[in-house]
Amino acid sequence: MVALIAESFEPLVAPKRLTVLGSTGSVGCSTLDLIGRDLDRYEVDALVGNSNVLRLAEQARAVNARCAVTADAKAYTALKAALSGTGIEVAAGPDAVIEAAQRPVDIVMASIVGAAGLAPTIAAARNGTTIGLANKECLVSGGTFFTSTAARAGAKILPVDSEHSAVFQVLNPDHRDQISRIILTASGGPFRTFSQAQLDAAGPEQALKHPNWSMGQKITIDSASLMNKGLELIEAFHLFDVDIDQLDVLVHPQSIIHSLVEYRDGSTLAQLGMPDMRTPIAYALAWPGRIEAPVAQLRLEQIGQLTFEALDEKRFPAVALCLAALARGGSATTVLNAANEIAVAEFLSKRIPFPGITALVSGVLDRAEGDDMLCPLTALDDVFAADAYGRRIAAELVASGFCSR
Ligand code: NDP
Ligand code: MG
Repeated sequence: MVALIAESFEPLVAPKRLTVLGSTGSVGCSTLDLIGRDLDRYEVDALVGNSNVLRLAEQARAVNARCAVTADAKAYTALKAALSGTGIEVAAGPDAVIEAAQRPVDIVMASIVGAAGLAPTIAAARNGTTIGLANKECLVSGGTFFTSTAARAGAKILPVDSEHSAVFQVLNPDHRDQISRIILTASGGPFRTFSQAQLDAAGPEQALKHPNWSMGQKITIDSASLMNKGLELIEAFHLFDVDIDQLDVLVHPQSIIHSLVEYRDGSTLAQLGMPDMRTPIAYALAWPGRIEAPVAQLRLEQIGQLTFEALDEKRFPAVALCLAALARGGSATTVLNAANEIAVAEFLSKRIPFPGITALVSGVLDRAEGDDMLCPLTALDDVFAADAYGRRIAAELVASGFCSR
């Protein structure tokens, strides 16, 4: 048994070369925190950010990256100046981001937020590069186009989202036909106990206070609306190749059990740990091995109680909306994702109320159905067209007062 396990781990002979897309964000910073502690094991090729040029330059110096790229073409001069004398290559603009994603490395950490992450992640996947996938919008927006592109090129997708990392860690591919359910846990977010009246009045400051996780703004709002859990069900559908009715959500306020896989023989396997993204990131970075991460060890005797609740679909209709879009197939989840990105931005700008997020996404999907705009995703342009449509209709609906306060 011991020998079998040992044989399944590839020894690391040379440092793993790594590119981080979205290095200046929450997942990106956690990734570099891990890498910075183990620079003998990892070599950083490209770091990609957007507006936070000073942080990008600081990161590039700290890990001695070969190249630093900002998606913002106007920020080139500032990045160049911040890295002068270091020998680190500098580039800027969307094409430079794609080129950075295509550089030959062992693993690309895909942690740009939103649909903006799709084109560079696809570019990396087309080269057959292993992807550590944090950007869930890639799967939600790109759907089967993304997964088939990666599969054709032989690119492995290693889930970084904590729930999917949990499933990945406990799902035995040899027993795939014996899975009865994949159960994603949800903290319930900051509004778990809110009444409908409180939800109606909730503002961005409250929504940005997640009880367990420290994350970027967009996913934090998605966690409050539970849209995040809906996006994660779509993500799980594409990653684990199960039927929609095998996907479930369980509210677990402590965020200690990160997800569960239920087998037909009555066994349910789960992965547990403190809510710290450095654990799933470390798992993807080290896969198929494991590395040490500076994460507090789980002490269940100190936590005392783990509790569970069913999801209240009435107060949080986003999960059902995501499942309906997934069942509709093709570009429905692309449109949903695009509308949600607009809805989150509008909520953060206080132009729509909190329940308006899900209402707006639902309104855009209804309109897409009525306009006969939902189609299969056979090319990247289909994805971009559906994404642009979803954004345009969402903006139009907001302008028409569709879900104003
Ligand atoms: P953040 O908002 O913290 O960071 C986003 C990153 O994307 C930043 O580096 C930002 O650059 C960069 N970025 C934004 N727009 C562009 C663009 N157009 N081109 C290139 N880079 C861009 O997000 P998170 O780290 O929270 O999330 C990243 C992804 O991971 C999301 O898809 C999220 O759903 C997913 N995820 C995150 C988790 C978390 O704990 N944070 C957990 C599970 C999944 P800059 O800051 O320089 O502008
Ligand atoms: Mg998650």
